[in-house]
Amino acid sequence: MKDRLIIAVDGPVAAGKGTLGRRLAAHFGLAYLDTGALYRAVALRLLRDGQALDDIPAMVAQAQAVSLGDLDDPALRGEQVGEAASMISPQPALRAALLQYQRNFAARPPEDAAGAVLDGRDIGTVVCPEAAVKLFVTASMEARARRRHAELLSRGEDISLATVQADLAKRDARDTERSASPLAPAADAHLLDTTKMDIEAAVQAALKIVAVCIKE
Ligand code: C5P
Repeated sequence: MKDRLIIAVDGPVAAGKGTLGRRLAAHFGLAYLDTGALYRAVALRLLRDGQALDDIPAMVAQAQAVSLGDLDDPALRGEQVGEAASMISPQPALRAALLQYQRNFAARPPEDAAGAVLDGRDIGTVVCPEAAVKLFVTASMEARARRRHAELLSRGEDISLATVQADLAKRDARDTERSASPLAPAADAHLLDTTKMDIEAAVQAALKIVAVCIKE
């Protein structure tokens, strides 16, 4: 994995990691993995198969069956699937089942790419602690709620801003308080607060950080 460029993009839900991660991957010609989509894909499989969200053996079996094709399903983006993904993600057995998938992607990115950008919650701390670049992307709760609300409305979901904000607060608590791989910046992560930035400004700020890390 050492000679490949790995960029870890971590942060709370709706901080802008996904858009930023995709833009960085395109800029450097790297493969991109949205690791939240893996947790969402397992949740969607459990929901579709009528399995309980606390059925650990089912969760692990579904995780082992997830393939890259699952990650493009538009149904992954719905609010119900996001909530279910957040509920199952603290399970250590599930995290362990998805860890190897993520590490394999970083070690052998598709199409022999020169490296990979992975976005999630624990990429810099657990999945790719050796990543050359670690970004921890944040934004205020109000900014994240507004962005997430606009995204859900554009998908046709009927949900209020207050509900979205309450959901984000609940997910933040689950992500930061779980004992298995809690959301936290790695000691060597670069913090990027996107509250007052549009996506172009965030990309430019991230590119500056990457340039510094690559030179070191
Ligand atoms: O980022 P996204 O909202 O798509 O992630 C869905 C859920 O998966 C999150 O609520 C989070 O709890 C979980 N997740 C995680 N570790 C990751 C990526 C996502 O626990 N690396």
